[in-house]
Amino acid sequence: MTALFDPLRLAEVAWDVTCVNASSAQVLRQRQQTRLAALFEAARAAPVYRKHLADRPSADIALTDLPVVHKHTLMRHFHDWVTDPALRLPQLQAFTADPRRIAQPYLGKYQVWESSGTSGTPAIFVQDARAMAVCDALEALRRAAPRTLYGWPDPSLLGQRVAFVGEIDGHFASVVSVLRLRQLNPWLAPALQTFSIAQPIDTLVAQLNAFAPSVIATYPSAAAMLADEAARGALRLDLREVLTGGETLGASVRLHVEQQLGCQVRNSYGASEFLAMGWECAEGRMHLNADWVILEPVDRQHRPVPAGTRPHTVLLTNLSNHVQPLIRYDLGDEVTFAADACACGSPLPVIDVAGRHDDALVMAGRGKRSVTLLPLALSTVLEDDAGVFDFQLRQRDAHTLVLRLGERGTAAVSAAARCHAALHAFCADQGVERLRVVNELDVALARGRSGKVQRIVAQPGG
Ligand SMILES: [Zn+2]
Repeated sequence: MTALFDPLRLAEVAWDVTCVNASSAQVLRQRQQTRLAALFEAARAAPVYRKHLADRPSADIALTDLPVVHKHTLMRHFHDWVTDPALRLPQLQAFTADPRRIAQPYLGKYQVWESSGTSGTPAIFVQDARAMAVCDALEALRRAAPRTLYGWPDPSLLGQRVAFVGEIDGHFASVVSVLRLRQLNPWLAPALQTFSIAQPIDTLVAQLNAFAPSVIATYPSAAAMLADEAARGALRLDLREVLTGGETLGASVRLHVEQQLGCQVRNSYGASEFLAMGWECAEGRMHLNADWVILEPVDRQHRPVPAGTRPHTVLLTNLSNHVQPLIRYDLGDEVTFAADACACGSPLPVIDVAGRHDDALVMAGRGKRSVTLLPLALSTVLEDDAGVFDFQLRQRDAHTLVLRLGERGTAAVSAAARCHAALHAFCADQGVERLRVVNELDVALARGRSGKVQRIVAQPGG
């Protein structure tokens, strides 16, 4: 089976990606405009977009002339959304329902994956070799050294043993990328293995100890869990680097992972809608690959918000995918653009990403007032004050929180006691009335379809 690969396109994009690194904000804007016009031109083949583009020349159309679109609407009109009429949703759904076909080219020319959302019907994303070449070049050339993970016959991978830890039985972008890399570089395959997060933790730890990776690529929540296993002496690895992505990585979790796993953590920002959105520079700040993806930070009414302000959501425009155009797509992430430039000198904007995976909790406060507890604040309390990193806090009602922990046994009991003390102190400060914290220490953390953990979960309908 041949993996999807376009070497000429890759060489061309790689040269461009390297040039933009050393260019100005103006060059960046020109790249965006040229690529946006090309995207509009391609999108005319999709009925969803045709009526908005009408007869005007693509170069004269502003991005904000087009409407904001939502995942569920586009999925409902899938056949009108793609530019190749051979792409039919029922056949694609049958393809992604078959785990034996993960990472196989679809119709011989498309890479397909599904979104990892925890609710509703998963969205399906289709890209061609040209779009994959953009991802490959961005991943290989923008990620600060050592470069790893996927999509590029990268000499720095030589001698590294890379373990991907995640959900490996579904057509998710992360595992599709890892398997595609193995197909492209058969010599790499023995040193690049996937490990399922869905199996018992003791089995996973034994497999990792046996494989002895030098690099682990995983979600922050899984990295925190592995750090706990290292802390209790079960996981014994000599790691060079942990690559994280897919969830929000807090400062405390990063520190915990770095201390317990004894190596550097490098975080990235990607989504099923565009894999290689952000990368951390040598200054430790996250840069947006704005030459290939546009994110518009907006408020609830989809009005633009200025740099430095946390938006309600961001609208994503993927400049590389001409097969399934994503234009002003409501991504749901809260991405704040920094007002200042980065000391590293890159013209690419600096962003701060808060994921969409945690809920705010509305609790009952004194005097019949409600008190909203922000997920970031709750996570920080448990991580910084209680020293607990692998947890799940579910709201049962307006007074009650249910605590689950990744740890087990006596370690879990003492960790739970620290969580209770920290939560009671924090909630009292916030004005929550009659708080109850209930343990579910014998229940495993609930993971979403892709293996990610939602740390803070509001009550249903809350
Ligand atoms: Zn920088």
